[in-house]
Amino acid sequence: MPIDFTFAPEVEEVRLRVREFIDTEVRPAEEKLRADRAGDAAADRRALIAMIVMTRQTAKDWGLWLPHMPPEWGGMGLGPTAMAAVSAEAARTGMGPFVLNCQAPDEGNQHTLLHWATEEQKERYLRPLCEGTARSCFAMTEPEVAGSDPTLIQTRAYQDGDEWVVNGHKWFISGARGAKFAILIARTEEDPDLPQAANSAFLVDLPAEGWEVVRDIETMSGSHNHCEIRITDLRVPATNMLGGRGQGHLLGQARLGPARLAHCMRWIAQCETALDMMVDRSLNRFAHGSLLAEKQGIQWLIADSTMELYQAKLMVLHAAYKLENGLPFKTEVSMAKHFVANTLWRTVDRAIQVHGALGYSSDTPLADMLKQARWSRFADGADEVHQMTIARNAIAAYKDHGTTRTATGDLPL
Ligand SMILES: Cc1cc2nc3c(=O)[nH]c(=O)nc-3n(C[C@H](O)[C@H](O)[C@H](O)COP(=O)(O)OP(=O)(O)OC[C@H]3O[C@@H](n4cnc5c(N)ncnc54)[C@H](O)[C@@H]3O)c2cc1C
Repeated sequence: MPIDFTFAPEVEEVRLRVREFIDTEVRPAEEKLRADRAGDAAADRRALIAMIVMTRQTAKDWGLWLPHMPPEWGGMGLGPTAMAAVSAEAARTGMGPFVLNCQAPDEGNQHTLLHWATEEQKERYLRPLCEGTARSCFAMTEPEVAGSDPTLIQTRAYQDGDEWVVNGHKWFISGARGAKFAILIARTEEDPDLPQAANSAFLVDLPAEGWEVVRDIETMSGSHNHCEIRITDLRVPATNMLGGRGQGHLLGQARLGPARLAHCMRWIAQCETALDMMVDRSLNRFAHGSLLAEKQGIQWLIADSTMELYQAKLMVLHAAYKLENGLPFKTEVSMAKHFVANTLWRTVDRAIQVHGALGYSSDTPLADMLKQARWSRFADGADEVHQMTIARNAIAAYKDHGTTRTATGDLPL
């Protein structure tokens, strides 16, 4: 049977090296950061940046840098399935992916530039991103229209000689403050054949006149550099269009497929951390005559989380396999994104329940993890939009073949 769930020895070696690196270098640094929290946002941010700079150097010393990019860009050249293994180790701590330089949104932007940029654009924008000397952002969502439907984008660009002039409004642009450049999506075509062909993508050097960071939006988990941006008569050289005219939607979709799966790979790690903590706590807390681990009510929480994590891992591995082998992957990624995001929410919530008041405190990472987990159910594709795609595919499969089989992973079962 050609079904093999073992990784090649070199992938397994990298996975274990990442695990050791996270356990011995990143987790202790994060714990120290948490213990030293001064409550002063600026000072805490400076300490965080110092920690990232230091651990990034250590990551390079360990040969663990930029796992998803090809060697000619300074990366480790891992494909999607190997990345699933590495991300599931790296993201067991909150900062692990940043330390290896495979964090959102830069990871998605790196892939996008690798596939869509001209050689000049790659040298100018991709190179520093890969070297870790620059950060980037991806600016698509707008406050005035539903982000779930990019055909509604109102930010407009018109051509003026060898420049484009852009006006508009964006928000929730992750990493915008301090980014060296943005990939900006704007409407350039007024009457396209398809509504999806109205937008184009631009590379915008930052900071720039006409690009105003209005605020770092305060979210339910604090401010994490998800910014509101006002764009007024921003001038972008025509050579900075990324891809062709009207290809902004295509580029966004091509970026989002792998980027969504990369989120899932990281969320699996967070689910595992929460489940490990749930079990550990249940083995050490005694109430009403026995350990929590011996109580059926707690065992159900553990069992449900265990089963869901197993399903999540299989879905991610299968979607990564499809991506790696050039097979259609969109439905599988949609199903994985929806399922893993909800598994993450449920598992962290159960872990908090088992920890009682401690779980609600900031003495453990669980409270932060829950607040972070909430956005995963609507960002990069809301649950309902994925469900819409999944149902559409199942209905189409049934109409075409008299069975929904191809819509359920197209597995040989
Ligand atoms: C932490 C965070 C980081 C982000 N980072 C970025 C970034 O870097 N760059 C960027 O461009 N954007 C970013 N976003 C924005 C994100 O991509 C959008 O939130 C997402 O696309 C949804 O758009 P919206 O918020 O406008 O919700 P809407 O599109 O208004 O949708 C709201 C709700 O409506 C429902 N809904 C929508 N469509 C349907 C449908 N067809 N059927 C049924 N129900 C439906 C869903 O419940 C959905 O959650 C980020 C968001 C967050 C929270």
